[in-house]
Amino acid sequence: MAEHTIASALEYASGRFSGVHDSATLDAEVLLCHVLEQRRAQLYAWPERVLTASQWRAFERLVARREKGEPVAYLTGRREFWSLPLQVSGDTLIPRPETELLVERALEQVPAAAAWLIADLGTGSGAVALAIARERPACRVLGTETSPQALHVARGNARRLGLANVSLVQMDWCRALATSGCHLIAANPPYVPSGDPHLAQGDVRFEPRRALVGGEDGLDAIRVIGREAGRALRSGGVLLLEHGHDQAPRVRDLLADQGYRTVRSYRDLADKERVTQGSVP
Ligand code: GLN
Repeated sequence: MAEHTIASALEYASGRFSGVHDSATLDAEVLLCHVLEQRRAQLYAWPERVLTASQWRAFERLVARREKGEPVAYLTGRREFWSLPLQVSGDTLIPRPETELLVERALEQVPAAAAWLIADLGTGSGAVALAIARERPACRVLGTETSPQALHVARGNARRLGLANVSLVQMDWCRALATSGCHLIAANPPYVPSGDPHLAQGDVRFEPRRALVGGEDGLDAIRVIGREAGRALRSGGVLLLEHGHDQAPRVRDLLADQGYRTVRSYRDLADKERVTQGSVP
């Protein structure tokens, strides 16, 4: 068998990906780092290093799967969110940079030493719950999730990060939470309309539908969460929701109709209204 060096392996993979993915070189690097258990800088420090036969076979298999469209995060099982290294699987969404806005806006409301009860509904890999728990150690953060597989991933992440102030429980949104117990509830719910053509494109094709699709107008889960959170939040408590870039006016109307006060939206780095909040009177 021909020998494969780091440089030739990268060239091979970038070639297979070019025209298929716009991140061909980066994808090749990340997959090779995963197989070699090395950092990216090391690839360029030792380009002539020869891969073992089994490393090459493992790399070839990942390259073939990526070529068919599987997200890099699912192939490596890893994604960083809020600078936390998280494990992800096909049972969880891949945490997105725009969801960091939800964390930022949540943290803005929580005084540094507050000992609040905070819930993250539909936590998936645990990204939002874990980021908040890390930043507010005096708070108790509860992540809820219906999928046992996703819950398993989230619990593994909490354990690896050594975060003792987070609990991950199997629950439909906040249905089983005590009335008026929470100071703040955050959620990145499924909000994509079922007919959205993006669902048939790119990485999204491989993500769990139940975490993406919110019915015909995308707002089914947000309606339920708005209703349930109104009961689970204390007086003055805040609900923060991520939603689609064009859904903010409808989410604001919906929360106002459900009795929330001081309803407002925030823009993400792409200048789209991406997060809306309301507070319980
Ligand atoms: N922002 C994601 C997307 O565009 C959707 C995530 C979600 O539904 N919570 O695919």
